[in-house]
Amino acid sequence: MNEVILCKYGEIVLKGANRQNFESSLLKELRRRASPYGIFKIYFKQSTIYVEPQNDECDVDGMYEAARRVFGIVGVNRAAVCDKNIDSIMAKAREYLPEKLLGKRTFKVDAKRSDKSFPLGSPEISRIIGGVILECVGGIRVDVHNPDVTVTVEVRDEHAYIRAGQESGAGGLPIRTAGKGLLLLSGGIDSPVAGCMMAKRGMEIEALHFDSFPYTSDRAREKVLDLAQLMCEYCSRIHVHVISLTHIQEEIRDRCDEDYFTLLLRIFMMRLAERCAREYKCGALITGESLGQVASQTLAAIGVTDSVVNIPVFRPCIGLDKNEIVIEARRYGTFDTSILPYEDCCTVFTPRHPKTQPKREQVMAQLEKLDVEALLDEAYATMYTETKLIFPEYK
Ligand code: ATP
Ligand code: MG
Repeated sequence: MNEVILCKYGEIVLKGANRQNFESSLLKELRRRASPYGIFKIYFKQSTIYVEPQNDECDVDGMYEAARRVFGIVGVNRAAVCDKNIDSIMAKAREYLPEKLLGKRTFKVDAKRSDKSFPLGSPEISRIIGGVILECVGGIRVDVHNPDVTVTVEVRDEHAYIRAGQESGAGGLPIRTAGKGLLLLSGGIDSPVAGCMMAKRGMEIEALHFDSFPYTSDRAREKVLDLAQLMCEYCSRIHVHVISLTHIQEEIRDRCDEDYFTLLLRIFMMRLAERCAREYKCGALITGESLGQVASQTLAAIGVTDSVVNIPVFRPCIGLDKNEIVIEARRYGTFDTSILPYEDCCTVFTPRHPKTQPKREQVMAQLEKLDVEALLDEAYATMYTETKLIFPEYK
């Protein structure tokens, strides 16, 4: 074993009695994510997670990238492993570091000695390894205040580890430590981000998509599945349920005032989502709404849509500007797919002058024109769960 991956976890360290549950969820998730990349030994020791390849077939690069997408981890490093004596550490530094320090102008060495029986102190180890680097890396110099890269040498219980720099992890809390949320997933930019943001706080994500076939196309639904598949890189496994809103939309179009179309549709979405959440044991709905983004996302409109359900509704994008949401979408890798131009059920039969300051009574009066419960039952009966998504790590 030449190189291992060391992961540092963040907020979990603040957990008291629950800490073990968080740690075991994190290990479980890492082990699951590792499975497509070969056989790794993954364990906790001294507030670090060790990910050790067990043979030469292991794809360490792939595992490293996967670890960077696991919520609950704040820092990920690759480290060279060697025996715990200064000759081995020096030899390993000579072999391992020149490539890692290529193009860097300045460095410092930070030595940590958790095994206090090691005969040399931290300053001494730093000095020796600093000397090795100056000798074998051309043009580099020491800068202890503002180095391009920090080389860390850690002398631990069983081995010594050498690494250059540290990359940030996905942060947050391990998935499946904060219950399950039902994400209303459209093909837009916001809702995939909303799902990833709640997964970052430890929520397991289940998704519900509404289509309006034949007003929306198969390709539009495929796009949503592509988005869910991309989200799995961070959110682990996501089941996507699909409900048809076609008949509801036709009824609204035929019987209600045009200005209320969108709001009425959103009421049906929320009611159906609440039913789906109860069936699949989700404790909250999640939407990609952002205050004031469109007519249905004013405070008054959100007040009305919230009032028809009896379940918490999480809207993590509510205070973000569109450009901030776009930054997140790029980070989570969903942006390029989100901007593909396919229609959504919300863009079918859109009113010319949607109500931005709806009064609840007026909206309810519009609903009176419809057989709401029968329409809900009928739409809910169209629900099916997509089976096209692939979760290799769950095999
Ligand atoms: P997105 O918010 O995903 O970028 P959007 O902004 O076009 O898409 P809106 O019409 O603003 O979507 O809808 C607000 C929220 O309602 C979405 O973030 C999503 O959570 C939910 N939603 C909208 N359309 C659908 C749909 N077809 N299926 C499931 N949820 C939807
Ligand atoms: Mg939106």
